[in-house]
Amino acid sequence: MNSLREIMPRMMKSIGLEKRYRDEMIILNWRQIVGEEIAANTRPGKISRRVLTLAAKNAVWAHHLSTLKEEIIAKINTYAGEKAVSDLKFQAGYFRNDQNENKDEDELPAMNWREVRLENSEKKAIETMTAPLADDLLRAKMKRLLSKEITFRKFRRRQEWQPCRKCGVLRPAGDDLCVTCAAEIRAAGRDSIRKLLRDAPWLGYEECARYIPCRRSDFAAARDEVAEALLTAAARDVNDPVALPLLTMLLYKAGPQAITEEMIANTLEKVRRKSNVPASRR
Ligand SMILES: [Zn+2]
Repeated sequence: MNSLREIMPRMMKSIGLEKRYRDEMIILNWRQIVGEEIAANTRPGKISRRVLTLAAKNAVWAHHLSTLKEEIIAKINTYAGEKAVSDLKFQAGYFRNDQNENKDEDELPAMNWREVRLENSEKKAIETMTAPLADDLLRAKMKRLLSKEITFRKFRRRQEWQPCRKCGVLRPAGDDLCVTCAAEIRAAGRDSIRKLLRDAPWLGYEECARYIPCRRSDFAAARDEVAEALLTAAARDVNDPVALPLLTMLLYKAGPQAITEEMIANTLEKVRRKSNVPASRR
């Protein structure tokens, strides 16, 4: 039989599951490792901190096993190609775990990690990674290990999430708003800025931000939209009594008392240029 090290799939090493894989292999190949007689009278349990729990068939065998301890450990480690097991713990009660393939779950945190679902891409990755394993039972076990590994990693990440302060949806730590709420708040903010600028078009960013906290880029975008709307209104009717003065105040950031005839004339020039040039060529 080949040493386990020679047949260890590279992917198990790369994802840090080599110990779990090694331990599973020892238990799966128990008969080959210890031989027919010992295998017939023992059932390997789990390996934890290099201690293998071993159930014996009866009291006589439990005693007999203790005399074979060093021999069994040596056989296991020869197979593993390293010191995988340093001690054996004998257990009364025979083959207890046979019906319980999911015994690992007893060690899992009793929280709602079960709600964590794997993506199809993650399931596919697990299939791909375990495909080289020829043994059906081993492949099934490794699939379960990998899916738990991924589930727990996701769960740990999820535990650090915090609720969006607006809608309560969980967000990765650091963001106090979810993407949707952040977009909604910014859109609502731009809408408020537009309304404010229609009433007070001379406002600059600093003053506007005093009334409506906003980013400079949102203010600039809202201001551009108001300018475009006023320009269009003024171009439609150069005698519009409101659009032209408002546009002048906006472009010069000048209040009603501060705009001059010259400013209005310059603005009118802009409006004329716009109305003469087709919109598509602007
Ligand atoms: Zn939200």
